[in-house]
Amino acid sequence: MLSSMLMLTEAEYRYLKTIYILGGSKGFVKTSKLARRLSVKTPTAIRIVQGLAVKGFVKVVPRVGVILTEDGVKEAIEIAHKHGVLEVFLHEVLELNPSDAHEEALKLETRISHKVCDKLCSLLNKPRRAPCGLEIVHRHP
Ligand SMILES: [Zn+2]
Ligand SMILES: [Zn+2]
Repeated sequence: MLSSMLMLTEAEYRYLKTIYILGGSKGFVKTSKLARRLSVKTPTAIRIVQGLAVKGFVKVVPRVGVILTEDGVKEAIEIAHKHGVLEVFLHEVLELNPSDAHEEALKLETRISHKVCDKLCSLLNKPRRAPCGLEIVHRHP
């Protein structure tokens, strides 16, 4: 089934988000830099990045790095939105300290549905930035 083939794992979401944080929607990111940021070894990062390339979310250019495709940018913005909204909620409403709020948001961001996240976001008045510094882009009404 095509849809299940294109489903992203938790690790893959994290990579897309990190590539987006480091390179934005149009910048190449060195695999070694990505690995350092994610605290993994470079071969591990290469393996996951290659999986993302097969699924069409990134392009890999040898010796240059990895860049998000249009689909990759879309997924990265959505996962960053979920992360940011959850983190604001955990910090401002549940009063977790910023570092706990960030860690908990990492656990929840791949689980929450778009529908619930968008409702939560509106309830929080569409925050622009998460306590960890991540910019939140809103693509919902
Ligand atoms: Zn965060
Ligand atoms: Zn939003």
